[in-house]
Amino acid sequence: MQDAFENLRGLLGWAPDRIAAVAILVLAVVIALGLHAVILAVAGRMLRQRPELTWKYLSQVERDCRGARHNRGHAVLAEMEAHFERMWLLTQNVDGFHRQAGSRRVIDIHGDLHDLLCLRCAHRERVKDYQHLEFPPRCPHCPGLLRPDVVLFGELLPAEKVAQLMQELDQGFDVILTIGTTSVFPYIAEPVRMAQQWRIPTVEINPGRSEVSHCVEIRLPLRAAVTLDAIWTRFRTRA
Ligand SMILES: [Zn+2]
Repeated sequence: MQDAFENLRGLLGWAPDRIAAVAILVLAVVIALGLHAVILAVAGRMLRQRPELTWKYLSQVERDCRGARHNRGHAVLAEMEAHFERMWLLTQNVDGFHRQAGSRRVIDIHGDLHDLLCLRCAHRERVKDYQHLEFPPRCPHCPGLLRPDVVLFGELLPAEKVAQLMQELDQGFDVILTIGTTSVFPYIAEPVRMAQQWRIPTVEINPGRSEVSHCVEIRLPLRAAVTLDAIWTRFRTRA
């Protein structure tokens, strides 16, 4: 890991003014709940045809994850936001942990399980968990049913989030970090591939190999939380 730190030192420099001027894009799946994969296994079509079945499944998933909290990896990414000129976090997770940890510039491309919306009217609400919901939950304003604001299998990505991602990519980044993701979704892998054309550094933190492992500049085959904590401590102390 020492070599990797030296490489990072070379990439970003240690001077505080240099660090403050760096724009970073982070592609992150920091926690290993695998929640996004579970949610994507639920088909959007099933939600419309058998909402009670879909909600039964979703509520089981939510119940299994209830009480879990963000980890040190999420916290480090949230702390980093204040130290760089511009930092965006693109995540495929639907657990909401990045916002819970304090990150503000988050594009949660698959949505957040805690955001519910009505299938008929404009009602939206945010819930802490599903503990007090009756399934399938009904809209308080109309006869419609509620659904979580997440991308289910067969559904399109939310247009406004895709547009936001495109806008940020257009502005460009100085460094791209890809953390804990296998990058099987093309929109998660693409920024790393674009970085090669832009000739900007890329760093991957992931214990296993991913779709982009072969094209990143620095690869740290390590767990996200402990590695981010170690790197950030080094950066902060300018060791
Ligand atoms: Zn409604």
